[in-house]
Amino acid sequence: MNIKFSDETLKFIRTELVDRFVRYTSLGTQSKEDSETIPSTPEQWELARMLEKELRELGLKDVRVSDKCYVYATIPAKGGKEFESLPALGFIAHIDTSPAVPGKFVKPIVHDYKGGDIKLPGIPQLSITVDKNPRLKDAVGSKVISSDGTTLLGADDKAGVTEIMTMAKFLTSNDTFSHGPVKICFTPDEEVGMGHAGFEIEQWGAFAAYTVDGEREGELNEETFNASAATIVFKGKNVHPGFAKGIMINSQYAVCRFVSLLQNYPRPEITEGREGYIHPYSLSGTEEVSTVKILLRDFEKSGIESKKKIIQELADKVKGEFPEVQIEVSTKDSYQNMYEILKSYPFLVDFAEKAMKASDVHPIKLPIRGGTDGARLSFKGLPCPNLFCGSENVHGKTEWISLRSMEKAVQTIVNLVQIWAENREQIKDLAKKKN
Ligand SMILES: [Zn+2]
Repeated sequence: MNIKFSDETLKFIRTELVDRFVRYTSLGTQSKEDSETIPSTPEQWELARMLEKELRELGLKDVRVSDKCYVYATIPAKGGKEFESLPALGFIAHIDTSPAVPGKFVKPIVHDYKGGDIKLPGIPQLSITVDKNPRLKDAVGSKVISSDGTTLLGADDKAGVTEIMTMAKFLTSNDTFSHGPVKICFTPDEEVGMGHAGFEIEQWGAFAAYTVDGEREGELNEETFNASAATIVFKGKNVHPGFAKGIMINSQYAVCRFVSLLQNYPRPEITEGREGYIHPYSLSGTEEVSTVKILLRDFEKSGIESKKKIIQELADKVKGEFPEVQIEVSTKDSYQNMYEILKSYPFLVDFAEKAMKASDVHPIKLPIRGGTDGARLSFKGLPCPNLFCGSENVHGKTEWISLRSMEKAVQTIVNLVQIWAENREQIKDLAKKKN
């Protein structure tokens, strides 16, 4: 049985979404690389506290902000013992925004969208064009929200936060259906890869969860890259160049030769979809020592191994050409494809697809060409696929989102709660097996 959203309910959901989204995005909450504090920036506390207060006002249980700035809450089960004993389903979104573009003083603008390009008043030469954003066409007749062009918008992932809050509001003010306990968590520092680090998975108590952090409407991710990094150090010998004849060994020629050879292999610039790559991202050198750092990415473990082999073979080749230079290769694995875990929980993606279809959303299964905190959480014991929040052009000043897509995201997660409750016998069985 799908949830029927009356016109009146949808109107209520839209008002909630716009109010909350504008309120949350107006707070600048960028995270920061290489920070020594947790969370990485103090601004994130402000949003965490705001959400804590609002969750309490909604009457949720177990509301708290941890000392690491994670906001936790529970929507209690409804419908009696049968539902109370259902293993909890969780929803996760992150409160920080990307440090890649300005994001401190965000001025969200709500456009009544009737079609055409959207001018951003903060930077007159900047607009969101239909040409580059064909999905704008689906937003005609709805509202589109953007920044004024001077900053990012922060729909990544405040749209996810807003949608989960609106789902909570809907479930607490509605007696339309029985459901199990629903857990909510808002994390800091996702954009700097640390949104999983202080997550108290056991205490939170969800059996499985969805991050609501994907982009376009319908996006559903159960796969991430496998990721490794290689560091290759080239050691030469330095002396004063005036007396260098027959003595100096300049490591920079060897490193440059090595990097030039990499051009013949899959690179980020020429790969897409399910293709992996080898990507030199940092290069430094002197006569004495030169270092190149390289990212290795592939959806298959065997693909990572063969890329490691390529690196070693190229190092050997360069060693042959520069026998006096010492070459040291080291590799380190960083994260794994979450499908390794999620393949044991096929119902999670199945339920998500059903929930989307029930909400009149076309599911688009895409592998993520990167990692997610959900991937790390999955490997820590919390299986965690990723759902769309509706954001577009994230980490940029032309970031936008349509109210229509946000509404569809809310319907999808409400339907997921419903589908979870409908399949309670199956879930209870699976939970027994997991423990
Ligand atoms: Zn995100």
